[in-house]
Amino acid sequence: MLYVRPEYYDKFKCTADRCEATCCAGWQIVIDEAALLRYKSEQGEYGKTLRRRIDFTEGVFQQDCRKRCAFLKENNLCELYERLGEESLCVTCADYPRHIEEFENLREITLTISCPEVARILLEQKDPVQFTEEEIDTGEEEFEDFDPFFFSYLEDARQIMLSILQNRELSVAVRVFLVQKMAEEMQDIIEVSDLFDLADVFKNYEEGANLAQAVREAERELSAFYDNAEEDFLYSQTVFERLYKLEFLSEDWEAHLERCQKTLYGGGAEVYRDTQNEFKEYCKQASIDGINMDILLEQLLVYFVFAYFCGAVYDDNVFGKIKMAVDSVTVLYQMFLAKWTEQDGQLSRENVKQMMYRYSRELEHSDVNLERMQS
Ligand code: SF4
Repeated sequence: MLYVRPEYYDKFKCTADRCEATCCAGWQIVIDEAALLRYKSEQGEYGKTLRRRIDFTEGVFQQDCRKRCAFLKENNLCELYERLGEESLCVTCADYPRHIEEFENLREITLTISCPEVARILLEQKDPVQFTEEEIDTGEEEFEDFDPFFFSYLEDARQIMLSILQNRELSVAVRVFLVQKMAEEMQDIIEVSDLFDLADVFKNYEEGANLAQAVREAERELSAFYDNAEEDFLYSQTVFERLYKLEFLSEDWEAHLERCQKTLYGGGAEVYRDTQNEFKEYCKQASIDGINMDILLEQLLVYFVFAYFCGAVYDDNVFGKIKMAVDSVTVLYQMFLAKWTEQDGQLSRENVKQMMYRYSRELEHSDVNLERMQS
């Protein structure tokens, strides 16, 4: 089995009781069957305590009125871990914050930015992210309904997209435009034509004369788009409003969206344009508390594209995966802008980190939301 991970993977270490937003509160933790059986058969007095704190019908840990896991102590350490050791944890707790995508003979493991410590690590990553590969002998795994032929095209496509997204000679807007266009062209072929034709799409986006031509076209179209303040305003609003179609996981998320929306769009297209321009200048002149905005946007795009794109092998939704990545980074940028406006032209590293993990919690911890953002 081949394991692929981002190079910063080994930097992660849970901050446990020092964590500002523990992952053991705020949502229900689903327990896998094997762990439920272990908990059912745990002997002694602690076995009885343990069973009282588990909802075996729903297969989840009980929570208190603050939505904290019943095993989470006031000092934010896990009682189950302390009493029965690491091997007692269910798969959800043992894996988090790892995000695992399974393919035939391949396991891709990333770290989710819904964990504040992972968000911090990503914020510190300056160079383009590389991915490391390791072959571990776990035996061959057969996947039903897995199309290795289509998958190899997806891997090639993702490689091309990642090299576009990490091409720092191009503006972030051009990189995003190219990747979206490439996904759109791929989707047309997947729906109506032969997969072999995907190779023709790839040729237009690989390094060389064709890519240079695609870049020129992207710059032309983007320039016309940004010249039209009204169009830019409407596009930004439309993307932001998609967030209201998601299920809300944290209680104050809807209020947060409404506040951002009012700050961003309440003054109309011209005010929005001026604020955006001022923010762009602010980002250019001084890095925000040590953060280079272009590099951060690149890392976020790479994060979403790497984690989700090849999952299209299961649903053919190539364009949806890219749309989710681009829209996610667009709304995160809008949230940074809103926060900067609300704080009279100030934005801290902590603000940015908080926005990243809060958004990721809303999106990546809900299958319903992941699906809606890809539709
Ligand atoms: S959110 Fe991350 S750092 Fe915080 S407790 Fe969970 S795994 Fe640890």
